[in-house]
Amino acid sequence: MQAWIGMEEQEEEFKKRLIESLSMEINNCKKCSLWRTRNKPLVGDGSVNAEILVVGESPGYYEDLQGRAFVGEAGKILDKLLGLINLERKDIYITNVLKCHPPKNHEPNRQEIDSCIRYLYRQIDIIKPRIIITLGKFASKEVFDKFNLGFTRISELHGRVYEVKTLSGNMKIIPLYHPAVACYHNEMLGLLKEDFRKLKSIINN
Ligand code: URA
Ligand code: SF4
Repeated sequence: MQAWIGMEEQEEEFKKRLIESLSMEINNCKKCSLWRTRNKPLVGDGSVNAEILVVGESPGYYEDLQGRAFVGEAGKILDKLLGLINLERKDIYITNVLKCHPPKNHEPNRQEIDSCIRYLYRQIDIIKPRIIITLGKFASKEVFDKFNLGFTRISELHGRVYEVKTLSGNMKIIPLYHPAVACYHNEMLGLLKEDFRKLKSIINN
């Protein structure tokens, strides 16, 4: 007997399959030199049905070993910030601009970003989030570019809400500082907390 599957479950199944085939491509990807030194590419973690997509910069040392998002120090800070607004990892989907770890945590360069960015754009098109939170200048710039928003500086734009129209409805883009900055600069944690508290009312709207 065939089980009845609702529309939402069907959509979730469909999204999962698309993300799985994207994962296979990323696992075999050699489009930039980072494939030579990576252990595990980090495609993304969380729910493909999430209304909130969080975009970081690139996998760090521990993320590279595990292939999981934000499992190191920055991840502990991110979890605290999510906790402030009663969100858990299962309520969001997290990915990065680069899917492979840059050795010595070097900043993503133009060639690496240009090779990898289409994977992120495809994830946005598959997941169709209502809200995209970009962490730090690299994620913010690339997502702003996709939607033809003018990126200036993260210190100027953080915490503001940018609304864009897409084929699947309106989307809000909210650039924030990267939680890693709070590992080294304690005063930045205060700013991040303030921005996250503002997020709460936007998410519930
Ligand atoms: N920093 C990031 O930008 N992404 C991760 O997944 C971990 C740390
Ligand atoms: Fe491919 Fe991106 Fe990894 Fe480069 S960083 S090898 S483009 S998946």
